[in-house]
Amino acid sequence: MTEQPIREALDAAGRVPSEADLDTLSRQLNRPVRDVVEIGARCVCGNPLVATTAPRLSSGIPFPTTYYLAHPVITSAVSRLEAAGLMNEMNDRLGEDAQLAQAYAEAHESYLANRDAIGQRSGTGAVPEIAGVSAGGMPTRVKCLHVLVGHSLAAGEGVNPLGDEALAAIAEWWTKDNCYCVGAWDTESEAPSRDRSRHVKTQEQQDPEAKRAERARKRAEREAAQAAESAEKGDA
Ligand SMILES: [Zn+2]
Repeated sequence: MTEQPIREALDAAGRVPSEADLDTLSRQLNRPVRDVVEIGARCVCGNPLVATTAPRLSSGIPFPTTYYLAHPVITSAVSRLEAAGLMNEMNDRLGEDAQLAQAYAEAHESYLANRDAIGQRSGTGAVPEIAGVSAGGMPTRVKCLHVLVGHSLAAGEGVNPLGDEALAAIAEWWTKDNCYCVGAWDTESEAPSRDRSRHVKTQEQQDPEAKRAERARKRAEREAAQAAESAEKGDA
């Protein structure tokens, strides 16, 4: 496939992030999102649930965690499962149940294959530094349920058995057939600002040192103005 049909297929699947999607993600996470190249999964209402990040950030850093769970309702529900010790139980079962262990190892392979494809689509290309390294503890352990749930939502049911289990276990708080977006994040104030494009590099991104110097200069100006003001008041 050439680039254009791939783009069209992604677009048809709702995976191409719009400006509004990126703003919503920034609001959901309460920080500017960066290097999000696709929307991994959406709410029935259309809002993003999962941010798909390029395997290499625009800063050049390799980034193994492709699917990031962004929806606050799902994130906190999954945190409850973690706090209740579900990961320990899953790890025990991975040690005892060969069939589960096999399915989980296959989920790891699928994750890597998806990430390679995303790297190709997004122009990142191969990222040898993280070859064979997936996320969340795969292929043999469970270290982060959020990662597994993000994977399950993006890949669909039947790919990651433990992500699927965790999704089933949060049904009390979130299910894919309903929208839980209203009131789940701040929609009133301005979205945390972000880079408009991962392709726009250093020209717009100021060097942090320069930013610090600029802030120090402004602070000095303010302080000088305040000092002058209080001096005037003292004179009066
Ligand atoms: Zn929704």
